[in-house]
Amino acid sequence: MNYRYRIYPNITQEQSLLEWMDICRVAYNYGLREIKDWCNSRKCMVDRCSINHEYIMAADTPFPSEVNQLNALPSAKKVFPRLGEVPSQVLQQAIKQLHRAWEGFQKVGHGFPRFKKFGQFKSLLFPQFKENPIVRLNIKLPKLGIIPINLHRPIPNGFVVKQVRIINKADIWYASINIQCDVNVPEPMPHGHPIGVDIGLEKFLATSDGVLVKSPKFLKVMQSKLKLLQRRLSRKKKRSLNYEKQRIKVARLHHTIDNTRKDFHFKQAHTLCDTGDMVFMEDLDYRTLSIGMLGKQMLDAGFGQFRTITKYVCWKRGKFFREISARGTSLECPECGVEVRKNLSARVHHCLSCNYTTDRDVASGQVIRNRGIELISTAGHVGIQNAYADGLPGTEISQSRSKSKTRKAALKRRSIGSN
Ligand SMILES: [Zn+2]
Repeated sequence: MNYRYRIYPNITQEQSLLEWMDICRVAYNYGLREIKDWCNSRKCMVDRCSINHEYIMAADTPFPSEVNQLNALPSAKKVFPRLGEVPSQVLQQAIKQLHRAWEGFQKVGHGFPRFKKFGQFKSLLFPQFKENPIVRLNIKLPKLGIIPINLHRPIPNGFVVKQVRIINKADIWYASINIQCDVNVPEPMPHGHPIGVDIGLEKFLATSDGVLVKSPKFLKVMQSKLKLLQRRLSRKKKRSLNYEKQRIKVARLHHTIDNTRKDFHFKQAHTLCDTGDMVFMEDLDYRTLSIGMLGKQMLDAGFGQFRTITKYVCWKRGKFFREISARGTSLECPECGVEVRKNLSARVHHCLSCNYTTDRDVASGQVIRNRGIELISTAGHVGIQNAYADGLPGTEISQSRSKSKTRKAALKRRSIGSN
C-alpha cells in the first residue's frame, strides 16, 4: 500500500531536491537519446542515403539496455561530476523509470517515451532503506537529513517501509511511502449483492439499484477560476518574478482541483462498496471518447481515475470487482434483452416488447450487472465442460483445444459420445 504524507523541507533541502530532480531528468533524457540513436542507426532507406544526416554506429553495438546504462553510470559520473550529487540509487531509479517507459512502449502499447522538459521530472524514488526512515514526526532521507513530516495517520503495525517517493506538486512536497506486510491477501471471490455501474456525463453514475449521482458542480466553478488565473499568467513576462508567482498560483489551483476530484471519487467508491458486494463497470477507454465533442467534460470528470480508485477500494474492502464489455449497454433491455433504439436525448428506457420502463442510465447499469453475473457464472461453467469433454474416452479428440471452448461444440460432442 502507498500512504501519502505531506513533508516540510527547509529551503536548502528544497533546493537540493529540485536540483536532484533536474539531474535525474538530464540522465533520463541522455538515456533516451542513446536508445533513440541506436534505433535510428538500425534503419535506413533501401536505395539511398539520407541527405541531412546518417547515423554511424558499429553494427554490433549492443542495445543500450537497462543493465548497460546502469553499469555506465559510475564512469559517467567521472565525466559529469554533477551526477554525483544525487544519491546513486535515486539516479539509478531514473534510468529504471526510462526503461519501464520503454517496455511499456514495446509490450503494452503505450507511446514512445518522450524527452522531459525543464520541470517535468517531478518525483524522486528512494528505493531502499536499511532501517525505518520515519522517526517520530520526522523522515530521514540519505544526503538530505531530517525532514518534518505530517504523520496524519500512523503506519499500521506489522508494516515495513520499503520505498519512499518524494513528490513535488506546485510548491507543496509529499512523501509517498510504500509500506509492505508479509501477509497473503486472497483475491475477493464473487459473492453477495451485485451492482452494475454506468458512468456518464449527465449523471456522474447510475447503479443498477436505481441510485443516481449528479456530476459534481465544484469542478466547473474551479475551471472558470483556473481560466482567469491562466489568462493572467499569459500576460506576465516569461521567467520574470511575477510570472513565477503566478505560475505557482495556477499550479496550486490545478492541485486543488485534482484533490477535490479524487476525494469525490473515493467517497463515491466507498458508497458503492457500502451498498453492494460485487461491482461491475464498463471497460470503456475513456481517452478515445474524450477526443470527441464532449472532450473537456469527459476528462474533467476523470472516469478512468474513478474506475482505478473503485478497483482499489473494492480490493481493500474485500469486494469483488470486474470490468464488463461495454458494447451496446445503452441499447439492450435489462429485462428481456431486446435491442431498444433510442437517441441521445431520450432519458427514459421504455421497452416495447416487455413494457419495462426505467431511467436510461439505470437501465444500462442493470445491463452491466446482468452481464457481470453472466460472466462469473459462465467462467466456471466453460472450464468444467472443457475438462469434461476433452477427457471423455471414445470421443473424437482430434479437435483443437480452442474449439472445444465453445459450449455448443462441447454439447454436440457429448451427444455424439452418448450415442
Ligand atoms: Zn424488454
